[in-house]
Amino acid sequence: SKRIGVLTSGGDSQGMNAAVRAVVRMAIVRGCKPYLIYEGYQGLVSGGDKIRSASWNDVSNFLTLGGTLIGTARCMDFLKPEGRRIAVHNLIKHGIDTLVVIGGDGSLTGADTLRHEWPDHVKQLHDDGKISQQEADKYRNLMIVGMVGSIDNDLASTDMTIGASSALTRICESVDSILSTATSHRRAFVVEVMGRHCGWLAMNAAICTGADYLFIPEDPPAGDWETDMCEALKRTRSAGKRTSIVIVAEGAIDDKCNPIKSEFIKDVLTQRLGYDTRVTILGHVQRGGSPTAVDRYLATLQGAEAIEAILRATPDTPSPVIGILENKITTQPLKEAIALTKQVAKAIQDHDFQRAAELRPRSFLT
Ligand code: ADP
Repeated sequence: SKRIGVLTSGGDSQGMNAAVRAVVRMAIVRGCKPYLIYEGYQGLVSGGDKIRSASWNDVSNFLTLGGTLIGTARCMDFLKPEGRRIAVHNLIKHGIDTLVVIGGDGSLTGADTLRHEWPDHVKQLHDDGKISQQEADKYRNLMIVGMVGSIDNDLASTDMTIGASSALTRICESVDSILSTATSHRRAFVVEVMGRHCGWLAMNAAICTGADYLFIPEDPPAGDWETDMCEALKRTRSAGKRTSIVIVAEGAIDDKCNPIKSEFIKDVLTQRLGYDTRVTILGHVQRGGSPTAVDRYLATLQGAEAIEAILRATPDTPSPVIGILENKITTQPLKEAIALTKQVAKAIQDHDFQRAAELRPRSFLT
């Protein structure tokens, strides 16, 4: 039966465990043999007990836990072809020729590279006497399927990445906590949230917490934004609010691409408005805690679809990535999804927000 390895790679996100569990159990249901690969690509390169056959009960209690129980890593060796050749050898040793990779765009790009290089590595391993002719004949191709685990919701081909819902929920809980103390003291808070170059978390957090002002990379403020911000905050205060909340995406920039720093915003509010202002950088709490129902559900449905995509695929099928668009679980070519993500990032870099919105119509910009 088909041997399918599953790994989590890059930054962790809530719901990765639920995805691993779904992949393992659906593989078993569909007559395949699942393998857990520990510590992301590092586990592939290290081999040995980092690659372990998985039974139904090995993923018990995975569904509701945040983070990733099989570990994740950023692996330098895997960035080099020599490192990837060792990974190929380790996979062949375990008889695995199918991989489900749960990670961000970096991890998924790496998986696609591995698949393309696979036949060359197999040939080289055979030429070096490391694998037999029989093995070289048996393991001609690698099949890979990508699943997007990322709190940032920064992949263009899917409406929702696994972890984004939980991270957003964590941010809302944190801002709610800040609000009670801010109200007591009539304070202003500048809250910095994650998202790398993507403002999805910041924008949705602002909507969900009723924040007074927002900075996201996709909509850099132009001109004298300091005055605009101060005027906006004064208006909400004179309308009766006791607090001011400014949400800042970690990748926020102005219209000249200079980063907008939380500390700078604090100084503006303190000096111009005289507000008692504090900065809270939420940091890694955003990655923590149990996955929301949405993430558990999304990861479970997508994990099941990943196995179906494997069973449908032929050696000529482009590497698929599982997504969700307009409430339907989708399977799309991974390369196109990553290319689209890069185009959106470039459009934002070029300040062509119209194009970014066209490329990703259901994104934060509509
Ligand atoms: P993410 O998957 O969250 O975007 P990274 O970009 O850090 O996170 O990627 C995680 C790991 O995936 C890297 O440490 C590396 O081992 C592998 N990887 C990333 N990009 C590539 C690439 N272009 N080619 C091969 N491997 C890659």
